[in-house]
Amino acid sequence: MQADPSLAASIQNLSKNYALAGETVRALRDVSFDVPSGDYISIMGPSGSGKSTLLNLLGCLDQPSSGNYWLGGDDVAAMNDDELSETRALRIGFVFQSYNLLSALTVVENIEVPLYYSGRITPKLRKRCLDLAKRVGLESRLGHRPAQLSGGQQQRVAIARSLVNDPRFMLADEPTGNLDSKTTDEILELLRELNEEERTIILVTHEPDVAEQTKRSIFLHDGSIVSDERR
Ligand code: ADP
Ligand code: MG
Repeated sequence: MQADPSLAASIQNLSKNYALAGETVRALRDVSFDVPSGDYISIMGPSGSGKSTLLNLLGCLDQPSSGNYWLGGDDVAAMNDDELSETRALRIGFVFQSYNLLSALTVVENIEVPLYYSGRITPKLRKRCLDLAKRVGLESRLGHRPAQLSGGQQQRVAIARSLVNDPRFMLADEPTGNLDSKTTDEILELLRELNEEERTIILVTHEPDVAEQTKRSIFLHDGSIVSDERR
């Protein structure tokens, strides 16, 4: 069944099984929910409950065993490899707990990395990267390398990098998991601003304080949704 194209995403009866040493691990079991455009959702649940599995499916990094995933009006299962790469590159912004910056590159060069992947290195887009570095508060750190930055600053670089292609859909797996509480608040403030710009955000967290800053929390247990509450 086709989803409402005004939704940012629609997840319908999604399941994911992994084969492991002859056993089947049912990491995600028949999960369904709609994501209205502009929503800000935290995915919570104990370790092993399927949070990362779900986020990987939402990020088109993996395929479900069964069920449907509509991104905007598009059926992700019907996309070929090129369309999947383009979707990941242009429509989805990823932020990870471990930042995943390139240690040899400066702040600005790290933010420019998506331009190299897409082969579109125009002066206008490089200017956009510089503007994004300023936007996340790193104007005085442009030439620094990751090792010269605090964890919070590194996560700001990662967030700026995720914004280069102006995605409307952002996915974050424990984005504040390595940060102290003050830095966590700063990163959450940045995410709140991005959500206010009508970007849809789904983040995984096990911290109730972080979840409280989102509009809606979905709890997973053993691969199933056990609650879905809007604040
Ligand atoms: P969470 O992020 O909530 O900790 P995961 O989504 O990482 O949970 O894992 C859900 C379940 O799937 C766990 O039982 C985990 O061991 C299993 N799992 C995750 N990835 C794989 C994999 N690549 N192969 C086999 N089992 C996996
Ligand atoms: Mg995980």
